[in-house]
Amino acid sequence: MSNTFQIGVIGAGAAGLLAAAEAARDGISVVLIEKNNKAGVKILMSGGTRCNVTHNTDAKGIVRAFGTGGRFLQPSLGAFPPKEVVEMFNRLDVPTKVEETGKVFPVSNRAVHVRDALLKQALDRGVRLVTGQAVKTIDAPDAISATWCIHTDVESFGVDRIIVTSGGKSWPGCGTTGDGYGWLKGMGHKIVKPRPALVPLIGGSNWMNALSGVTLSDCEVSVVTRKNDKQELLSRRRSSLLLTHHGFSGPAAMDVSGALTAAGSFDVCQVLLDSVPQINETQLRGHLNDRTREGGKRSMVSLMTQWLPKRLANSFAQELNAECTVAELPKVTCNRLIDALKRLPLNVTGTAGFPKAEVTAGGVELEEVNPKTMESLRTPGLFIAGEVLNVDGPIGGYNFQAAFSTGRAAGIAAAKSLTYHQ
Ligand SMILES: Cc1cc2nc3c(=O)[nH]c(=O)nc-3n(C[C@H](O)[C@H](O)[C@H](O)COP(=O)(O)OP(=O)(O)OC[C@H]3O[C@@H](n4cnc5c(N)ncnc54)[C@H](O)[C@@H]3O)c2cc1C
Repeated sequence: MSNTFQIGVIGAGAAGLLAAAEAARDGISVVLIEKNNKAGVKILMSGGTRCNVTHNTDAKGIVRAFGTGGRFLQPSLGAFPPKEVVEMFNRLDVPTKVEETGKVFPVSNRAVHVRDALLKQALDRGVRLVTGQAVKTIDAPDAISATWCIHTDVESFGVDRIIVTSGGKSWPGCGTTGDGYGWLKGMGHKIVKPRPALVPLIGGSNWMNALSGVTLSDCEVSVVTRKNDKQELLSRRRSSLLLTHHGFSGPAAMDVSGALTAAGSFDVCQVLLDSVPQINETQLRGHLNDRTREGGKRSMVSLMTQWLPKRLANSFAQELNAECTVAELPKVTCNRLIDALKRLPLNVTGTAGFPKAEVTAGGVELEEVNPKTMESLRTPGLFIAGEVLNVDGPIGGYNFQAAFSTGRAAGIAAAKSLTYHQ
């Protein structure tokens, strides 16, 4: 076969670009195969085309944010924490800035600069990029052949080591259609059922949906379920929320979406909105029962607009028959309003699914992958990194950070394993 390389990387996203660049560091021949006509398509559209590359925290902060998947990420993140990601981009002439939320973006606010820098780094190190070819099948080494054979829809490549960084199933328009799961299953890996995460929620009611476009800048969304007659909290996120025609978007809704899709059925969960997390229930009651001359004369809408957007305050007042002054508010309405402001059921019936999910939860079972090297514990010579693994983090740069750290670890280890065996 004329197309022979020492290492083959499948998928030129965040993880694949890092894996290929690291693998090629010491003159090792690397081919990076991408089905799109260009590399890093998802990087280009990420963070509203600004690309939130990481979060302003340390490796421990990232590990914590990933919850159960965090422990697996510890070794690769420890070796390549957010500080080093920022240093890498500085070195690649992409200076970064930290925003108030802790999100790290390129100073230019242009995702294309991130993609171009990662691509240039890989090409400068000699990586051969092959675009517009979708990998269809992979033959593992056997008694006859010591090399892997990667078959695309156009040609075949022989490689000594293989790194799979083909991503998940979210935003399939970016090329991520879950192809890797099939190959990896065939190589003996368990695939934890992929499901959408960081995805807008479908639901609401007529009056909520009529508020499409309204943003609550500071609210708290919780997902609860009932177990043995007790309410159990599955997920909670305090951030901003966007009301849409069909439901809810923004970090507060999207960050709890994974807990909902994990629960399997939407019927067993309730999604509750606290529109005023900055005050507790006692303080809220105090405001609603204010009978002082000045406080009592205030309209309920005016009182609520100190915490809520005016359109939402108006709707709460209308829906709950509270279009009156604070002093006129009947006790029973006061109690209903407190309930509505602190724990409004959002009537969520589903999610926008993989087409609109920012990440895929589920994927390759983590117990079957070495967390230091990303080498498969099922098939030697196979390395797996990025979103194809069963890891998914919250909004805020965590997912790129995980893709960079695991991709880098896979590239280094695949190259090292070649030199050991020479
Ligand atoms: C709209 C949107 C915005 C986002 N914004 C952010 C953000 O700002 N910050 C953040 O941290 N995360 C963000 N994410 C999540 C982040 O993009 C992913 O977690 C990250 O891209 C995963 O990197 P990866 O390299 O594992 O996979 P991907 O980036 O998905 O790359 C996988 C690549 O493999 C290729 N591929 C798949 N199958 C084949 C095949 N058969 N043959 C050849 N190539 C194949 C795909 O075309 C793709 O290019 C966002 C996601 C979306 C959808």
